[in-house]
Amino acid sequence: MAEYRTIDYRCPYCGHTYSVRMYDVIDADSEPDLKERCRSGDIFHVSCPHCRREYMIQYPLLYIDRGLRFALLVSEKETAPLGQLGRPLAEQGYRLRRCTSLQEFTEKIAVFEDGMDDIMVELAKYDTFIEYVDNRKGTPEDITSIEYQRTENEVMKINVRADDKSMSFLIPVSMMQEEMDASPDLYRVREEDFPVVDSAWVISLFAPEDGTA
Ligand SMILES: [Zn+2]
Repeated sequence: MAEYRTIDYRCPYCGHTYSVRMYDVIDADSEPDLKERCRSGDIFHVSCPHCRREYMIQYPLLYIDRGLRFALLVSEKETAPLGQLGRPLAEQGYRLRRCTSLQEFTEKIAVFEDGMDDIMVELAKYDTFIEYVDNRKGTPEDITSIEYQRTENEVMKINVRADDKSMSFLIPVSMMQEEMDASPDLYRVREEDFPVVDSAWVISLFAPEDGTA
């Protein structure tokens, strides 16, 4: 069952106060409508009944897919230790992640629903970035986003957006698997801590430790 609170929310545009339902926990299997709204990101979408403006409000939300065994905590900031919540789930083989943005949240759902390893996906996005820059398709400053699209026939599709254009890269899963198998310890995370696995995380794996390099 979904758990939610109804709060009085003050519209940042017109100052009108209205009720907004904020979900604390969404169980994907038992709430198909809410699941759909999470997949599209619509769950954070509100519209002011007074000025009619529409906008997104992000708040802490825990999304659990018990069938596919993953749980996503949407929270910009690190929260209190989550071991009590995370440990039993981690022991059951759940992948647990904290998502710092809405875009990351919807992407993680897509990645896990495709049966993919999100660590591999982040690595593929990083490799795509390097290839894009090395082949002088553009400079790092041009890139506005690198997004996972889907995986079909064991090939991942990654999109690089730069200004008004977008370029797709096709990356075989087997190639990424080889890269990961070469240094298995490097890519290990502690699931129970709800780690953030994003581009900054991947970059940190390859960056020298502060002051020791
Ligand atoms: Zn308003």
